[in-house]
Amino acid sequence: MFFLQQEERIEVPEKIKRILKKELGEHKVLDDDMDRLLYSYDATRIKMMPSVVVIPETEEEVQKIVNICYQEGIPITPRGAGSGYTGGALAVKGGVLISFERMDKILEIDEENAIARVQPGVITYRLQQAVEKKGLFYPPDPASYKFCTIGGNVAENAGGPRCVKYGVTREYVMELNTVIHTGEVIHTGRPTLKDVAGYDITRLLIGSEGTLGIFTEITLKLIPKPKSAKTVKAVFQDISSVGKTVKDIFKAGISPSALEFMDKLAINAVEDFGHFGLPRDAEVLLLIEVDGHPLALEEEIKEVARICEMNGATVEVAQTEQEANKLWEARRSLSPAVSKLGRVKINEDIVFPRSYLPEALPELREIGRKYNLKMVNFGHIGDGNVHANFMISGLDKDELARVEKAVEEVFDLAIRYGGSITGEHGVGITKANFMKKMFKPQEMDIMRGIKKVFDPQNLINPGKMGL
Ligand SMILES: Cc1cc2nc3c(=O)[nH]c(=O)nc-3n(C[C@H](O)[C@H](O)[C@H](O)COP(=O)(O)OP(=O)(O)OC[C@H]3O[C@@H](n4cnc5c(N)ncnc54)[C@H](O)[C@@H]3O)c2cc1C
Repeated sequence: MFFLQQEERIEVPEKIKRILKKELGEHKVLDDDMDRLLYSYDATRIKMMPSVVVIPETEEEVQKIVNICYQEGIPITPRGAGSGYTGGALAVKGGVLISFERMDKILEIDEENAIARVQPGVITYRLQQAVEKKGLFYPPDPASYKFCTIGGNVAENAGGPRCVKYGVTREYVMELNTVIHTGEVIHTGRPTLKDVAGYDITRLLIGSEGTLGIFTEITLKLIPKPKSAKTVKAVFQDISSVGKTVKDIFKAGISPSALEFMDKLAINAVEDFGHFGLPRDAEVLLLIEVDGHPLALEEEIKEVARICEMNGATVEVAQTEQEANKLWEARRSLSPAVSKLGRVKINEDIVFPRSYLPEALPELREIGRKYNLKMVNFGHIGDGNVHANFMISGLDKDELARVEKAVEEVFDLAIRYGGSITGEHGVGITKANFMKKMFKPQEMDIMRGIKKVFDPQNLINPGKMGL
């Protein structure tokens, strides 16, 4: 399951390479081994070689690529920064991989309507910085925000710490230009807050993992930048109190702008990685940020601290912006820090309805213990999204068999509580086999039918999402 082989590969014929080079220019079509290798992997560390990599600069060039490839039966894989955790950007069937690194322009920031129009290769952090200079705010903040792209975020419907209050990428996409299999561009959505004309194709395309079409332009909603924020660090010695604390915070009418957790192994991994001053002996750590008007903030942060203490935590409020930034830097270091705990990271991102967290979190931890595996849990606990990571050598057959069973139990647990096998990382290839756990055959048939409308020859990012 975890060491997937490239399916039957389609090599791009020399004649087509020549056409692509003629249409786009030699420098935008890469076919030597070293170049292709650089585009052969994502954050899963699985490698699948594309036959050719193309690097378009304009929407028209994307249209030409799709047109040429589709007519010749060549698979097309879109790729942003390759930071995905489920293999979505891997060229499972070889063919042509489209990289969006040259389509990285912020086309417009319209302050009056609070919208931004961008090309898909814009790095999320770059957009955030650009809009913040104008007093605006683009909330979705995957921990990979310094290198992932808006196109990849839309395709995965990415989340992040702030999404507990502000919602995921889906809530911010107003319009999309998408190149479909005919090479035509469809424009969906409106730059208005209301629009109920026709089916909502924009929402269908968001989170479609590049399997329906290729995004070439994205219009995003922006909101006013919050005036200030405060962060609380709460240290727990008992995991079952954590879920209750999360519930109590929301019950008190507080909507935190981030509510993250890390377990003991995660805390220690981060401390080994960057010495952030986190308590190594804590069972669980919650980082809670509240933002808004400074006056309301004082009250709310006190209330958050009180609720944590009532549930048995030791609490510290960060006194300065630097102190708060250091805590969030520790949080963002988690993925690379945890990666050092094993040669292979089996990274799942299940989600539970928040109300079940008090029961679900201890049960989740027990799965690691039952199979005697190094299991590290952390994530966006405020929206019930837990990153459950199994750190393994990848070399021991017995360990592999145990981790396969453990992953299945993790998914079963999420589904049993009414949750999902993925909150934000998507299905890609690594979770494709588990789609049947989530959906009935009729529901899968509807998804396959939609895929067929958009991609009758199954050439647009084929082999993904179990379709
Ligand atoms: C350290 C680390 C932390 C992370 N933290 C988070 C997190 O907090 N939240 C979260 O949601 N994710 C997180 N991720 C996962 C990942 O960063 C996100 O899924 C991100 O949205 C992927 O963006 P990308 O540009 O790297 O896309 P890629 O990985 O290149 O591609 C992802 C998918 O998008 C498709 N795609 C890319 N561009 C286009 C396009 N123009 N048109 C159509 N389809 C396209 C690809 O085909 C693929 O299916 C993390 C990853 C890492 C390595």
